[in-house]
Amino acid sequence: MRRNVVYIGIISFVIGFLIFLYGVSLTGRNIAVQISFWGGLLLFFGFIIIVYGWRLKSTEQKQKEISSIRNCPNCGKSIRIDVKICPYCKKDFEKKLN
Ligand SMILES: [Zn+2]
Repeated sequence: MRRNVVYIGIISFVIGFLIFLYGVSLTGRNIAVQISFWGGLLLFFGFIIIVYGWRLKSTEQKQKEISSIRNCPNCGKSIRIDVKICPYCKKDFEKKLN
């Protein structure tokens, strides 16, 4: 989902940029300013969405890191969920499982 947010932002950014360029190429006509304005606005919103999507992504990654931490049943210190031997008390968890 967060990836889709970034894609929407990029698409909006690119389309906005193209509209803006098109508006600039029409310089001299009244409509040029309007097209440039809307293109620039779309470009700006695209940029905001990209930044928002990236922030969302980093937040989810942090949450994932937090959920992959548990306490050692032997010494009680915080350790990663996938470690086989506690780095603090050297307790072997694989032995316990077997
Ligand atoms: Zn331990």
